[in-house]
Amino acid sequence: MSKKRFGSKHKILEFFLANIGKVLNGKEIQEAGDGVTEWARRVRELRNEEGYQILSHKDRADLKPGQYLLQTDVRVLGFKRNISKETRAWVLERNGYTCQMCGVAAGDADPLGGPRTVRLTLGHIVDKSKGGDDSPKNLRAVCMACNEGLQNTSPPKPDQIQLLSQVRRARIDDQQALLEWLLNKFEHSVVKKKAKGIKGKVKKKKKGKR
Ligand SMILES: [Zn+2]
Repeated sequence: MSKKRFGSKHKILEFFLANIGKVLNGKEIQEAGDGVTEWARRVRELRNEEGYQILSHKDRADLKPGQYLLQTDVRVLGFKRNISKETRAWVLERNGYTCQMCGVAAGDADPLGGPRTVRLTLGHIVDKSKGGDDSPKNLRAVCMACNEGLQNTSPPKPDQIQLLSQVRRARIDDQQALLEWLLNKFEHSVVKKKAKGIKGKVKKKKKGKR
């Protein structure tokens, strides 16, 4: 019996892996698992015990109950969806629906040239393996590419001079919108972090001199 259980779970996993990035519904998953009645339990096991980051409506507002999504085959041990929909929405809003690592926005064309538009997920600022938690202040919006550690393959950043000349030529209301966006972005994370970093360095220097 346990062999059969393993079999259906394995088949469900294969089905998810063959459909990465696609929203799957319960019926399809059950069929993939040879009609096993406990397919939902198998999905939970894949997520909680084997670390496959299978998302459901509890993780993403755009998924309906009964829909599941595996966005990556990267396994995260101890992956749990402790992050509520509300927290997720709040963090995304705070971060202006923009990846806090590379700056792409939700719905932008894939900077790597892929067929799908940019989707954001939540990443931990301090990794959970290093003691980070699921609180909103330890979470930030990141795109799937950055979340999977692919940020090194991002296209080159625009040059500052070129960027400033673009901004100077932009309409005033666009400049104001940009200012608002920047204020919103830096109010929350980078400024504070930088301030902390500088303080930390000063302290270290003083201590080192003694
Ligand atoms: Zn990114």
